[in-house]
This record gives sequence, structure tokens and C-alpha cells, in this order.
Amino acid sequence: MDSVNLSVDAIAELAADCLRRHGCNDENAAAVAAVIAAAERDGCHSHGLMRLSGYVAALDSDKVNGNAKPNVERLAPAVLRVDGDSGFAPLALAHGRGPLIESASKNGIASLALVNIHHFAALWGEVELVAEAGLCAFACTSYKPAVIPAGGNKALYGTNPIAFGWPREPGPPMVFDQASSVMARGEVMLAAREGHELPPGVGVDAAGEPSTDPDEVLKGALLAFGGYKGSSIAMMVELLAGGLIGESFSFEAEIRDNNDGGPPQGGELMIAMDPNLFGDNDGWAAHCERLFAEINAQDGARLPGDRRYANRARALQSGVQVSASDYEKISKL
Ligand code: NDP
Repeated sequence: MDSVNLSVDAIAELAADCLRRHGCNDENAAAVAAVIAAAERDGCHSHGLMRLSGYVAALDSDKVNGNAKPNVERLAPAVLRVDGDSGFAPLALAHGRGPLIESASKNGIASLALVNIHHFAALWGEVELVAEAGLCAFACTSYKPAVIPAGGNKALYGTNPIAFGWPREPGPPMVFDQASSVMARGEVMLAAREGHELPPGVGVDAAGEPSTDPDEVLKGALLAFGGYKGSSIAMMVELLAGGLIGESFSFEAEIRDNNDGGPPQGGELMIAMDPNLFGDNDGWAAHCERLFAEINAQDGARLPGDRRYANRARALQSGVQVSASDYEKISKL
């Protein structure tokens, strides 16, 4: 396939330019573009440039406010809330991150509720940045119904990712970020676009029959990972990113959404903890490194996040290959 080699900065500029042309101000465009470029840099193509048409659709339909001014409030000493002003999530996250880090470093633990946002990205970016500040971080968000509750027959939960970051010195944090479905919907979209079959057990078609055809699964529903266990995690995300913070559940977000192909309005919850304030101030870092060393010592085992970091190192050195047809589509946008 013909491809174009772009630097990470060039991808960010391309995405920002496109978003500005569709109504984002500089600040909102730069925040979203940085997330898109980071996804391409780390080899997470399902949440990179592929999403640009969805971001644009949401701006064109006026569902999303491209000039959003997020507002941070402190509801309790360690409970923060950002109203995203109906904008895309990255700028709201950028506004809330500093106060979250400051509050967790002071209180030991703090939470950040993001409401009135439109989240369309991978979650690892938000926990990685908080973990880089020396804190342990958790994040989760819901979406629109795509996953069947265990034993049920109709999509109710979003693909509801959870991400967790652990600070390490030296080196980048350990970060995992996973959908509550067997496979993220973005990965199914990528398989559909590239004409790949899905592995068995990922989802069902519109009639509820198991299918390995990504197009059919996109019309049907996904299954939660690990049966009822993943189903409970997906439910927990609905409660934390919706019920707890006064935002919508995935099924409520769908009712309100205009189905323009962009992200629905919803919420996200982040929690940060300072390991220096939990009683093992001098020892926790070395202690946890022993666990990571034991994992890495096993043949075939690795830490989550290491694949991304390896991709990142390559992309920063040699750029990112973007398919020529994608590049052309984006240039037209
Ligand atoms: P994957 O199944 O690809 O990966 C999940 C995690 O497992 C990653 O942290 C990955 O690390 C790690 N991992 C993979 N293989 C191994 C291994 N062999 N050993 C150790 N760790 C491993 O991700 P998903 O398909 O579940 O999710 C993809 C993305 O979709 C996520 O970033 C998620 O945030 C996003 N998403 C966003 C939604 C939204 O509404 N905004 C909704 C749903 C999903 P590594 O990256 O290093 O491989």
C-alpha cells in the first residue's frame, strides 16, 4: 500500500489545521490534535487520524463546541469537577490535570470528574501524564451501547475502557488501557476498513448470532471480555463515569446523540493517588520494581505499555507511515 511518511509534529499540525477549518479555536484544535498525533506516534491507529472524520462530523453538526472553555470547580478538598462546555475531552483534561495532581499530592488521593465532554480517544494518554507526575492514576469513560450485559441479548454498555498508570523512576510509567469488550470498537472498525476477519468470540450480528465479520458485528454488538466478569467491569464504568458524577449512562447518551459519527456527550472519572502518602514512602518504588522485574523475567511476558513505548521510540526517530489514501482523505477534509 502506498504510504506517506509524516513526523509526529506534522501529524499534529495536519489534524489541528483540519479541526480549525471546521470550527475549533486554536486551543481546542491543538488539544485534540496532540491526542491524535500521540495515538499515531504510539501505533494506536484506531484512535489516531482515523478518528478525524468523526471529530469533524461532530463540529459540522454543532454537536460539539469547538470553542469550549472548560471550567474547573472544587466540590470537596479532594473532589474536582470540570465542566467541558460541550467540547472535546482533551482540553477539559488539560484544564483538570494540574488541579488533580496538586490535590492528590496534598491529600494522598483525589478525583476528577469530567462532565459535558465528548470523548473519542484512547485513555492511556490521560493516566500516563498523571503517572509521569509521580502518581498512580485511574481513568474510565463510557460511550454509547455496544456491549451486551452477560446473559442478555441487547447492547447496553459502552465499550467502557479503564486505564491505569503506575509511576516508575527511571523510565516511563507502566500503563494499561483496555476496553471492557473483548475488542475495542475502534479495532473492529479498523478490521472492517482493512477487510480482516475478527477472531471468534468478539461479537454478534444484528440477529444476536456469533459472527467474525466486522461489518456484521458493527451492526450487532460486542461481548464483554471474560464473560460476566468483564460485564461487571463495564457496569462499574457506567456507574463511575455516569451515575457517580451526574452524567449519562451509555444508553442515555445514545438517546441524546445525533448519530453524526462523532462521540456522544458523556462523562469520565479520574482518580489519582500519591504513593508517597500511603505509608511506604521510602520503599514503594523499589518494591514495585521487583514485581515488574519478576514479570519481565518470564519468557513471553511483558509489561503493558511497552509495545506503545517501542512504537513511540521508532516514530520519533523515523516518523509514522500514513496510508496514501488516508492522507488524501484527510487533506480533503
Ligand atoms: P488492547 O487489547 O490492544 O490492549 C489492552 C492493554 O493490554 C494495553 O495496555 C496493552 O498494552 C496491554 N497488552 C496487550 N497485549 C499484552 C501482553 N501480551 N502483555 C501485557 N500487556 C498487554 O486494547 P483494547 O482493544 O481493549 O482498547 C484499545 C483502545 O481503545 C484503548 O486505548 C481504549 O482506551 C480505547 N477505547 C476508547 C473508548 C472511548 O470511548 N474513548 C472506548 C473503548 C476503547 P500495549 O499498548 O503496550 O500493547
